[in-house]
Amino acid sequence: MRRHSFFVLIGVFFCCVFFSVTALAATADRQSVSLPGTAAKTDPSRQGAQAKSAPEKKDAEDKKATETKQDVAEKKDEIKREKAAEQKSGAQKDETKKDEEKKRDEAGKKPETHGRAAKPEPEIRVGLREGQASVVIRSGAAYVLTDAATGHEIQKFSANKAATVTVKSGNLVVDDKPVSTKKLRFSVADSRTAGQISVAGEFYRGNILLVLAEDKTITVVNEVKLDDYIGGVISEEMSPEWPFEALKAQAVAARTFAVYSLGLHDEDGYDVCATTHCQVYGGIESESPEGLRAVSATRGEIMTYQGKAIYAAFHASSGGATAGSEEAGGTALPYLKSVRDAQDESTPNRHWQVSMSVKQLSSELAHAGFSVGTLKAIELSTLHIGQGASDRYPSGRVRHIRFVGSKQAISVPGPKLRWIADLPSTLVDVRYGTGKKTTPNTKGKIEISDQNATIIFDGYGRGHGIGLSQWGAYAMAAKSKYREILSHYYQGVKFTFLF
Ligand SMILES: [Zn+2]
Repeated sequence: MRRHSFFVLIGVFFCCVFFSVTALAATADRQSVSLPGTAAKTDPSRQGAQAKSAPEKKDAEDKKATETKQDVAEKKDEIKREKAAEQKSGAQKDETKKDEEKKRDEAGKKPETHGRAAKPEPEIRVGLREGQASVVIRSGAAYVLTDAATGHEIQKFSANKAATVTVKSGNLVVDDKPVSTKKLRFSVADSRTAGQISVAGEFYRGNILLVLAEDKTITVVNEVKLDDYIGGVISEEMSPEWPFEALKAQAVAARTFAVYSLGLHDEDGYDVCATTHCQVYGGIESESPEGLRAVSATRGEIMTYQGKAIYAAFHASSGGATAGSEEAGGTALPYLKSVRDAQDESTPNRHWQVSMSVKQLSSELAHAGFSVGTLKAIELSTLHIGQGASDRYPSGRVRHIRFVGSKQAISVPGPKLRWIADLPSTLVDVRYGTGKKTTPNTKGKIEISDQNATIIFDGYGRGHGIGLSQWGAYAMAAKSKYREILSHYYQGVKFTFLF
């Protein structure tokens, strides 16, 4: 899959989503009817889903020039921002309360339509596979093959009859018969059978598109209704055992992220890929009854900021303070500022340690192009969660860490350190260990006298820390509804129904 930077993502978003989402403003804040929450207090069976990492794809290096100014401004703004966030979260609670009341009223009148006019549900194109030489399609129901470019029917297939598509002499071939198109669509003939088509034995809702790529291989795309897609995403991203309000929050975040990402992979012939690069999607195999219930209870609902779908990043655990969107090298977004996250403190394995010898660290640094010679010292201000410093972001995450060696001293951006030392997050401090004795980082500098000593990275949280903390949502779900949870992690957003 081709990867795109966060900035491209934003650009694509403005082009592709602007019109559809701004059109929603008129119908904003209508209410849905929620199914009763189970709020099951089951132990989480999963250590948090894979966090999204689009902002991390962009190195923080190109931001160096503006860092000093930002440091000063961020320090000044910090207290102000915290106060504003508190007030805002209070205001949003009131709004949510009103929403709930309004919802109950409307639910009494028109529960079957969610109290709003039905709008067509958009489709999303999900890239399932690229570079295929041969693809086998099958369905339990009768299905039909059309030319996706013209809409003309090519062939009908009876139930359980396989269609094998290959490439010969640079053209698509169906069961040895060449077809004069570069784009094939397989769909179930009778839409009432809720089309399930399999590709190489894996079942999907909606249609399957087979596209002849420029390199004369086949790209497999699932053309699927948005909420059917979210149904195949949610249980990959959060365990269905989790509290229902957390699942609903995840459903809205995943749907918003999908709308934001529409067209992201346009060059590849689809909207989103099915991996952690976009969101993990496994079709019907990935569905669970609880996940589907959370999708249906929030049907069509997304978060917007100034009328546009937001970049709804999420991660496993914040460690006590979420990261601003700029902290992983992305653009600073007004709805993705660092917030304190006391809820997250009950997260299992919130605190972690990664140890390595001084020699090993030096070698990992050299591998990443940061060769300093013999490592003499590490400079990093002491970690205070939720507090910035000249070398730390407002959440306390590492902005840059300085390695002083015999040859030279090098400043390494926090996100880069995370990959070099394989750390769960950048909300981290360092300690120096010799034998049984460890020396904490109290002065903002660790002096290294023994190359066989150990460097201990002491950290909190898992993932990039931006947006929704899944473990925080897990804890909040004991007392809060999903919109309160989302309003805590995405500040100043509105809830809107896309369909
Ligand atoms: Zn992707």
